Amino acid sequence: MPDVLDLARAQVLPRGEGLDEAGVHAVLALPDERLPEALQLAHEVRMRWCGPEVEVEGIVSLKTGGCPEDCHFCSQSGAFTSPVRSVWLDVPALVEAARQTARTGATEFCIVAAVRGPDDRLMTQLAEGVAAIRAEVDINIAASLGMLTADQVATLVDLGVHRYNHNLETARSYFPRIVTTHTWQERWDTLRLVRESGMEVCCGGILGLGESVAQRAEFAVQLAALDPHEVPLNFLTPRPGTPLGDRPPLDARDALRAIAAFRLALPRTILRYAGGRELTLGDLGTRDGLLGGINAVIVGNYLTTLGRPAAADLDLLDELRMPVKALSATL
Ligand code: SF4
Repeated sequence: MPDVLDLARAQVLPRGEGLDEAGVHAVLALPDERLPEALQLAHEVRMRWCGPEVEVEGIVSLKTGGCPEDCHFCSQSGAFTSPVRSVWLDVPALVEAARQTARTGATEFCIVAAVRGPDDRLMTQLAEGVAAIRAEVDINIAASLGMLTADQVATLVDLGVHRYNHNLETARSYFPRIVTTHTWQERWDTLRLVRESGMEVCCGGILGLGESVAQRAEFAVQLAALDPHEVPLNFLTPRPGTPLGDRPPLDARDALRAIAAFRLALPRTILRYAGGRELTLGDLGTRDGLLGGINAVIVGNYLTTLGRPAAADLDLLDELRMPVKALSATL
C-alpha cells in the first residue's frame, strides 16, 4: 500500500473521495511525528471541500435524566447510580435558551431529550416548543429524541425541524459491549427514516469507549456509508456511577489522529467538536483540531458536563480567521 497521506493527497484532496477502512486505520496508526502532517492535510481537505466557515450550535435538554436505556457512557441512564435525575424544561425556558444561543451567532439550536424514543407527551412538548421558538427566534431547529417511528419523523418534518441527531455512538462490532437495551441496527433504521424524509442527518459518536483502533476505523467508514450532513465527535468524559466511570480519557494524540482520520474519511461532512474535548484536548488541542479538520463547534454547556464559555470559542475562531457560518447561508 502506498503511504496513506500520499494516497489521501491524491484521492481525498483533489476528488473529495474519502479513505476506505484500511486507509483510515493507517492514519489512526501513524506515529506521533507524522501527526502534524496528517492534521495539516485534513485541514486542507476541510478548506477545499467545506470552506473556512465554522458552524456554531447550541444545545438544550428538554428532558434530562431517567432514560430507560443503558448506554454505558451515559449519566442520564436510569440504569446506573450516576447523579442526573429526570427534569423537564418548560416552553418559556426553551425559548430563552434558543434566544441566548442565537445571540452567540449560532445558526443551530438542537433540542435534546434523554429517552429511548419520544412518547406523546414529549412530542406535544416539542411541538409547542418548536412553534414558540420559530415565532420569536431566528435560528435553525434540530432535534435529538432517540429512536423514531415513521409517523414521528413525518411530524418533525411538519414542525419544521430541519436536522435530526441520532448517534450510532461506536462501531457496529463494538456496540453490544456499550449498549444492551437496543441494537445498532435499530439506530440505523431511524437514521434511514430521517434520511428518506429529507431532514438533514446528524450522526456521530464517542471515541474512547474502549474500542480498538481497528473498530475506530470501522466506525468512520460506517458513518461515511451513511453520508451524514454532520458528524458530532465526542470524546469520553468518564462519568461517576456509569460502567465506564473509571476509564481513562483518550490520549490527546489519539484524539487528534482520530480527527484527521475522520476528516479524511468524510471530506465533505460538517465535523463537529461535541463533548469531551476540554478534558481530552485542553485549549491547545482544541486549536489543533480546528486546524486539523474540525469545522463546527457546540458553544456553551453540553448536556451533562460543562463546556468552555461561548466567548472563549468565538474568540478562538476569530483568532484563527474562521468566520462563523451565517444563518442566511444555511437556509
Ligand atoms: S445515550 Fe441517550 S438513549 Fe442512551 S442512556 Fe443516554 S439518554 Fe438514554
